[in-house]
Amino acid sequence: MRIAIGAFSHESHSFSKDTVDIQAMRQVLFDDKDEIIENHRGVRGDGGGGWLGGYIDYAEACGWEIVPIFAAGAYPSGPVTRETYAYIKNKFIKNLTGEQVDGVLLHLHGACCVQGLDDAEGDLLTEIRNIVGERVPVLTVLDLHANVSELMVEKADAIYGYDTYPHMDVYEREQEACQLLEKIVLGNVAKPVMYRTQPPLLFPAIYTQTKGGPMEKLMEKAVAYEQEEKVINVSPFAGYYASDKREAGPSCVVIADNAPDLAEKIAKEMATCIWELQDEFFAICRLSRRP
Ligand SMILES: [Zn+2]
Repeated sequence: MRIAIGAFSHESHSFSKDTVDIQAMRQVLFDDKDEIIENHRGVRGDGGGGWLGGYIDYAEACGWEIVPIFAAGAYPSGPVTRETYAYIKNKFIKNLTGEQVDGVLLHLHGACCVQGLDDAEGDLLTEIRNIVGERVPVLTVLDLHANVSELMVEKADAIYGYDTYPHMDVYEREQEACQLLEKIVLGNVAKPVMYRTQPPLLFPAIYTQTKGGPMEKLMEKAVAYEQEEKVINVSPFAGYYASDKREAGPSCVVIADNAPDLAEKIAKEMATCIWELQDEFFAICRLSRRP
């Protein structure tokens, strides 16, 4: 089996005057294809600062051949400059084009804005889909604070969100995506289908931790749904508030095995649950307004 791996991670504050250029990326992550495996093997990323270790370790344990594409990331700040994104996108295109792969495994943030482009991950997934075609599975892990778009859902075969904040399960979610890719390639799942819902809310980040708050309740509900037959994964996303785009805010993505109606039903029930928990997400804001 031959798999391509790549990462592009940035949480962009739409309203900040700061921008992210290549120099800012180089301070955090800017690895070309020849550097990726050595730099990321065994990296767990606990706390949310390292990506691809779960993919590399799983692939090497299984004897899969890895085709590294590119890995870029920077600290949260303002939008990524047009030139920086163009450079990264071109690297993805150049390093993936012509490669015969059985699957593509990506690690993206999901709340990246580029100057003049609100949905950077949707754009990158579109480009990758154009290169590999419809038959090659494309799977991605996203941050819990992703603003998931319909375009991302349309272009990817499977989207996994972190289950934790602070982000302690980066590695495990990558390994889970590997397991699904393996099942797809071996024919052990019929066809993953996704459904996304987005209740009309925008939460402050302060109360999106997954221990002892409303996100914990959403995660417990997601795990319960995952026990049902044909349900592959349920990811509630907290969203990222400081993003000036339609997809900003909490959402839920459900992956089911060739069962679109089931995915839709669960995603809608999860959206209702998020809506009903809204007071708990705003609890701290209300407290802070008390005289
Ligand atoms: Zn996050």
